[in-house]
Amino acid sequence: MTTPEKHILSKSTFIRGMQCEKSLYLYKNVIHLRDTPSPEQLAVFSRGNNVGVLAQQLFPNGIDASSNFKRNNVAAVANTQKLIETGVEVIYEASFQYNQVLVILDILVKCNNQWYAYEVKSSVKISNTYLLDVSLQHYVIEQSGLKLEDISLITVNPSYVKKGKLEVDKFFVITSVKQDALKNESIISEKLEKLKMVALNPSMPEVSIGEHCFSPYNCDFMGTCWKNVPINSVFEMGAVPKTLLFELYNSGIKTIDEVPEKNNLDKNANLHLQSKNKNEVVVNKEQLSKFLNQLSYPLYFMDFESFMPAVPIYDNTKPYQHIPFQYSIHVIKNKNEKAVELSFLGDEGIDPRKKFIERLIVDLDTQGSILVYDALMERNILNGLKKDFPEYTSQIESVLKRIVDLIQPFNERSYYDPKMKNLTSIKNVLPALVSDLHFNELKISSGSMAMIAYEKLQKETDMFKIAEVREHLLEYCRMDTFAMIKVFEVLKKAVDRD
Ligand code: SF4
Repeated sequence: MTTPEKHILSKSTFIRGMQCEKSLYLYKNVIHLRDTPSPEQLAVFSRGNNVGVLAQQLFPNGIDASSNFKRNNVAAVANTQKLIETGVEVIYEASFQYNQVLVILDILVKCNNQWYAYEVKSSVKISNTYLLDVSLQHYVIEQSGLKLEDISLITVNPSYVKKGKLEVDKFFVITSVKQDALKNESIISEKLEKLKMVALNPSMPEVSIGEHCFSPYNCDFMGTCWKNVPINSVFEMGAVPKTLLFELYNSGIKTIDEVPEKNNLDKNANLHLQSKNKNEVVVNKEQLSKFLNQLSYPLYFMDFESFMPAVPIYDNTKPYQHIPFQYSIHVIKNKNEKAVELSFLGDEGIDPRKKFIERLIVDLDTQGSILVYDALMERNILNGLKKDFPEYTSQIESVLKRIVDLIQPFNERSYYDPKMKNLTSIKNVLPALVSDLHFNELKISSGSMAMIAYEKLQKETDMFKIAEVREHLLEYCRMDTFAMIKVFEVLKKAVDRD
């Protein structure tokens, strides 16, 4: 094997450079310009680490080659080499370097005198980016002098159902990807040379913003590259293919006001342009009345929160299954009456599903419309609960029949406010219709934050911390259904207006 030296590229900088050479340059030269990662992105990193550690149980009693050399990759490479030479047969975080390119492999195993490499991903699917990642590892490991009999991806088995103790051998799926790695060898070697030059070059490559800013990952230098995109730009129009938006932008049509009347955009995007240019709310009273007239009191405004643990926590659940842990309901019994609040939040450490459905059935009673905003998730959860608790099938079916989706008038454009920016999610509709309700003042202000907070609670032991997080969760979910009432009131007013 070659003597370790300071690396120029690593696996992550290689993948970054494959997405955009400018991103690699910025990362290497002005890393402080990077956007701050969101709590959601941090949760994805932490999930990846946890699944990686769990996968080590597939090959127990290994030695971690890098743990003592976290900031010293040269030493980690030398240590890996030493472990191989001294006959260690299972090595975690095995570091290799070739031609100033560093890779850290999750698991390296020696079996019948041959070496097998394993890279762990917390996903259930194998993406092209993963194949590229493994191809790079295969290239560097072999070029550094270790012959690999095989290289595989370890991913999560989506069909695994937990029953009792987690069975790691069933939870994971191992897929050999050696053929892909061999096929990609020449691309890897060519790209490595190109990207090393980008990393070392004193001048920044000229790369315009484009669809590559979002694929395969949202670039973390958007705060830098997109800062000159004007307010009211064409990108403020949602639900339009990015290709079309970049076509407009690159042809010099940068703002919505500049989009010509004759264009390739669809009906909804054009409605947005017209209502934005006239600064006018569009209401189709007939269609909107039809939607509102189907509702019958009592009106239940309902919202669920769920979390999706990669590693199942409870028996009879699968990886990434939506586990409902909380709901909020605001019920208006009769016209002109005030809304009454009902809520449920599962206890930490206990499977919340059974209590959730039992309480929900009682709280929803048997009559009245149940309004949900974008009901797909709620319907899926109820159908899942029907399978998991067949004893409640008839009650769940009757709940499902009473659900009315409050997104409908927005999707069919019975009510359209240009501030919605051609998008109909509650995140766009609420600020457009009810400007005085602010979620960002809450400690937990989105479904994904609620999901992360509840998952963390499962292991929390500090009673004060638990009480505090529970209060924030209740506050957030309550706000969601309260917001739905506000949206509903705007729709009612629009119909009543002359
Ligand atoms: S924001 Fe886009 S152009 Fe800028 S570095 Fe990232 S991917 Fe490249």
